Amino acid sequence: MITYTGKTVFNGIAIGKIAVFLKKDKQVKRHHIEDTEKEWIRFNKAKDAAIGQLKELHDKAVLEVGSDGAAIFEVHQMMLEDLDYLDSVKNIIDTQSVNAEYAVAVTADNFYHIFASMEDAYMKERAADVKDISERVLSTLSGEVSDNILTREPSIILADDLAPSETVQLDKSKVLAFVTVHGSTNSHTAILARTMNIPALINVPMEDYEELNGKLAIVDGFSGTLYIDPDETTYENMKEKQELDRKKKELLTELKDKENITLDGQRIDLFANIGSTGDLASVIQNDAGGIGLFRSEFLYLEKDHYPTEEEQFQAYKMVAENMAGKKVIIRTLDIGADKKVAYFNMEKEENPAMGYRAIRICLDRTEIFKTQLRALLRASAYGNIAVMYPMIISLEEVLEIKKIVEEVKRELEEEKLPYKEVEQGIMIETPAAAVISDILAQEVDFFSIGTNDLTQYTLAIDRQNTKLEKHYDSHHPAILRLIKMIADNAHQAGIWVGICGELAADSSLTETFLKMKIDELSVSPSYIYPLRKKIRETDISKL
Ligand code: PEP
Ligand code: MG
Repeated sequence: MITYTGKTVFNGIAIGKIAVFLKKDKQVKRHHIEDTEKEWIRFNKAKDAAIGQLKELHDKAVLEVGSDGAAIFEVHQMMLEDLDYLDSVKNIIDTQSVNAEYAVAVTADNFYHIFASMEDAYMKERAADVKDISERVLSTLSGEVSDNILTREPSIILADDLAPSETVQLDKSKVLAFVTVHGSTNSHTAILARTMNIPALINVPMEDYEELNGKLAIVDGFSGTLYIDPDETTYENMKEKQELDRKKKELLTELKDKENITLDGQRIDLFANIGSTGDLASVIQNDAGGIGLFRSEFLYLEKDHYPTEEEQFQAYKMVAENMAGKKVIIRTLDIGADKKVAYFNMEKEENPAMGYRAIRICLDRTEIFKTQLRALLRASAYGNIAVMYPMIISLEEVLEIKKIVEEVKRELEEEKLPYKEVEQGIMIETPAAAVISDILAQEVDFFSIGTNDLTQYTLAIDRQNTKLEKHYDSHHPAILRLIKMIADNAHQAGIWVGICGELAADSSLTETFLKMKIDELSVSPSYIYPLRKKIRETDISKL
């Protein structure tokens, strides 16, 4: 048995096989091949495997997003059977005596440029598709370990680090736990683990972890331990601990349908944070009063093209309908910093966290923003949607946003597309917004305090930097004072205020937040019951 210790991001016990997540080596090398016939057969096997994956993806997508949304996977299957595409790959292998990877990469590049230069908008869009299908064949050719294992059974994911764009690609029903060599507690991957309610460890000093693939392991998220090839006693102890944890969580569900009210009668809303429609089951299971933060950028991260208005509309509508009249606060696109999407073609920046991101992109590339707003407003007709804007620093931004929203509403009216009036709020996650929150409060319907970024910017501590973890202190008096000030300014202007950063789930501060008269806490779904318990046992008048 090998034992490693790291830092816990989320507790719980996971027992299962390891699947090592390897970063894709984007660089395709050119090799000389003697037996070109054999290489062509190798290509065909990979192509057939890719078509098999696409078939599975299609069936899964039909259930999740309906047949229109799933149609793209059928298009991809057809593209992989396209004779011009296949002829090109064969021709390159045969005439240049090269490896299949190289032939696929060159074909992808050539076809990409041909499609991209076409006038017809539909054909132009196929450029991204040809890249996508080729990348799929390339990964089947390289036989990536993680994909193979993950399609077979639920596994513990081991990785050097995971970017949000990588975690969204994983089939979440097959992930038992995350364990990474690097990473930080405040990263979006850590947030995802909390949302998924699975144990996660970071800073685990594993050497040559690639060799651990397929081995049996146990992740103890309570003590921050990873056991590889556990001995019998450890296995039995951990099984017992897992069962105890399950029972404890089950007990908490007795709080279903109970109010979030203190012993002396103060109420607070407990809402859930989500990243995709796939998180809805957990929201409902944990009895959330609404959704306080839907990180809509994950819709963009999951795709290899700008999600269309229709794709977004379907996702927002589905969330609104499933929440059946409960409030659903959707945050507009917060791309940038650690959340990178290739098709946005963003330039490399020295300080991406303080760079071109979130509302700054939306107010600059308004066509992207308007598409999202159209989808959001159209979906508002199907439930109780509210919209909030991230990374605000000025009144001018808020006024400009409101002007664009009015333009979009007029367009929808002209097109006779129904929408409801939605509450519009802003995230207070920059010190600038906190300091002028009295002014901003005059222009919006609510505030939601993003303590993750507010801590990062107030303390000048990069939330992603492992080395600075001990300085990233959301309990710093500067942060608590800012939260109090924001809450007072909101209430003075007659609007409500919530907290949707990770600090909202910190039960050591629940009493403080109640005393500040915070109206709503939005947390990963699995924190709702423990917080409800805490609130119901608190008597503010006695503090
Ligand atoms: C925050 O900054 O606190 C927040 C909720 O947004 P994100 O973590 O997505 O940056
Ligand atoms: Mg933020």
